[in-house]
Amino acid sequence: METKYIFVTGGVVSSLGKGIISSSLACLLKARGYRVTIQKFDPYINIDPGTLNPYEHGECYVTADGHEADLDLGHYERFTNVPTTKANNVTTGRIYRNVIEKERRGDYLGKTVQIIPHITDEIKHNVKLLGKTGNYDFIITEIGGTVGDIESLPYLEAVRQLRWESGNDACCIHLTYVPYLHAAKELKTKPTQHSVKQLQEAGIQPDVLVLRTEKEIPADMRGKIARFCNVAPEAVVQSVDTPSIYQVPVNMHSQHLDEIVMRTLGLAPEGEPDMQAWMDFLTRLYDAEEEVTIGLVGKYVELQDAYKSINESLFQAATYNDRKLNLRYIHSEKLTEQDADMKLGGLDGVIIAPGFGQRGIEGKFVALKWCREHDVPTFGICLGMQCMVIEFARNVLGLADANSTEMDHNTPHNVIDLMEEQKSVTDMGGTMRLGAYDCVLRPGSRSAMAYGSERVSERHRHRFEFNNSYRQAFENAGMKCVGENPDTHLVEVVELPDQRWYIGTQYHPEYSSTVLSPNPIFVDFVKAAVAYGKERAGSDSAKN
Ligand code: GLN
Repeated sequence: METKYIFVTGGVVSSLGKGIISSSLACLLKARGYRVTIQKFDPYINIDPGTLNPYEHGECYVTADGHEADLDLGHYERFTNVPTTKANNVTTGRIYRNVIEKERRGDYLGKTVQIIPHITDEIKHNVKLLGKTGNYDFIITEIGGTVGDIESLPYLEAVRQLRWESGNDACCIHLTYVPYLHAAKELKTKPTQHSVKQLQEAGIQPDVLVLRTEKEIPADMRGKIARFCNVAPEAVVQSVDTPSIYQVPVNMHSQHLDEIVMRTLGLAPEGEPDMQAWMDFLTRLYDAEEEVTIGLVGKYVELQDAYKSINESLFQAATYNDRKLNLRYIHSEKLTEQDADMKLGGLDGVIIAPGFGQRGIEGKFVALKWCREHDVPTFGICLGMQCMVIEFARNVLGLADANSTEMDHNTPHNVIDLMEEQKSVTDMGGTMRLGAYDCVLRPGSRSAMAYGSERVSERHRHRFEFNNSYRQAFENAGMKCVGENPDTHLVEVVELPDQRWYIGTQYHPEYSSTVLSPNPIFVDFVKAAVAYGKERAGSDSAKN
């Protein structure tokens, strides 16, 4: 079949969840047997989000091919189980860079280079790149930002042209917000009407409207919106807040979003999507009664999106352990030895978060020492793993002032040090060790058992690394370097086998955990946390 293009735009306000709606539609089309991918076009000038701090744009996600990407790509993978690549995330910065490079090469043969047609043609070219591989039946393109933003205009113009050129092979879904005014006790449709009008001014007629709302929108109100916006009544779909984002595909299907989109694209839907495995996941999610309490120690705890992939991986792992996730954020800047008992006592497991720089680092050492001494299941990710190594060096190997050269350039014991290949790097953007690398796990190690395999591939994003000249000292003292890269011998996983569950990974397993294929190391960590919780409950009741 011809590749079909679905564009998803948003209006009224940002943060409506275009990524979740795009992912849910992709999930349904995939469950109908189609090959689907989702791409995100972001209207900012950064070449990629790798140089943005989490306060600006939440977590930076990393694809297997080493692209620092928008966090929505994480949702795409979690909902579809289909890996994304650099081609799935394009920014205005990349578009302009390509055009300017072409101009310098002389490709435009003396023409004046302009937003229309040169920037819009470059956007169109990039929209179609994945389609041209022949690997996909559907390409869903999410346009970042909100209709009406100055910076989104070239994207809307490109979408307008593509729809015009593609006839039946392209359609547009527009997401808006229907607010509920408590004082008037009323849902309000006017912002949606305005938003659609604005889209129409750009020459785009939406085929489907998805209305985000906190309350059910009555059918007559949806009919009114349909009339005002030139959209078929059945193509006005509501997306009411749900207890879990993983419920959204089911809610979209119950309103026939997948069928409506297929018909718009000239396809006849047959039968039902096969959502069995997904529904099994939801059943476990809703059936779980007991909790598992995990503490996340990091410095961005006030930001909902800063540790998005870790949160989702833990949530999936808890569900597969038939537990509700009770996630407690512990601010690493505020954690001291004096309040460690109060803040860490009662946790079934602790995660030490990834990160950069000195701020909040001492709190991570406090947490790690406390967890090691109390034998609490502990999982260090990237900087968290590096902190495990440093804390062990200071308090067990007796190497006072051991550190990472990231935090202290002149440390006498650089147990974590800049990687050799990083020493000549001067630019910050896209220059870390990025993407998936193989890791060989020691037979019999807890990690190898968790994965059920002695060779795994996981994604990285770092410049600093375990210093191999200290390896023997760590091994002798009980911290085992159980995972290493087979080519470079970089240490990727450390463990304390004497503890219940104490593992640090230099890589980020959270980037490869999906609803239908949860990452085994997260599942095993939560399993250990559940067991530890039961053990404590058992000893408490024995005392009473
Ligand atoms: N700052 C550390 C490094 O660059 C860890 C990075 C991370 O946690 N992603 O190696």
